[in-house]
Amino acid sequence: MARYTGAVCRLCRRERMKLFLKGAKCDTMRCPIERRPYPPGIHGRGRIRESEYMLQLREKQKARRIYGLLEKQFRNTYAEAAAQSGITGENLLRMLEQRIDNVVFRAGFASSRNQARQWVRHGHVLVNGKRVTIPSYKVRKDDVVEMAPRAKAMIVLRHNLDTIDRAVPMWLEVVGADAKATVRDLPLREQIDVPVREQLIVELYSK
Ligand code: SF4
Repeated sequence: MARYTGAVCRLCRRERMKLFLKGAKCDTMRCPIERRPYPPGIHGRGRIRESEYMLQLREKQKARRIYGLLEKQFRNTYAEAAAQSGITGENLLRMLEQRIDNVVFRAGFASSRNQARQWVRHGHVLVNGKRVTIPSYKVRKDDVVEMAPRAKAMIVLRHNLDTIDRAVPMWLEVVGADAKATVRDLPLREQIDVPVREQLIVELYSK
């Protein structure tokens, strides 16, 4: 499965905000946004004309980067969200939240979605007792997500469980000692704390 392999902090700088893609580094002064909160490149500090299209594009890019999807994957997810009943923008965010790599991150097992994604790919994550190796796998209500028995002994997991101070969303019930999370319900929009105006994404893709 293809993924972005370039410099990650550039993505935050391009969006002029912290997207928290790097785990522990994001909360320190080593975060480049602290020192250079402007887009990368020689024109980064130049004047940028703000068009309606640019605002929509930036919002889409931001969402895509937060969840670590490439354009095609994101567009396919949008198409699925648009085909469902309800509000397309909310459907989109809910589907992104349901991704297994996001759940492992939200539960506080992994320090970043990238790390969670790698663990899923390496077979360290179980859903209802079965190994799932596809990061885009979508959890459903009452699913139980847990780290595989051997993965529970990983030092990095124990370290994350001891040090990550991230609020667990209401739709997840986490037992940290067992590295186990239960999906109590699918997330509502107000429970998804990403700085994204999904309506702009819908406008962009509806052109
Ligand atoms: Fe973004 Fe984290 Fe890099 Fe800061 S350290 S720029 S928040 S990925």
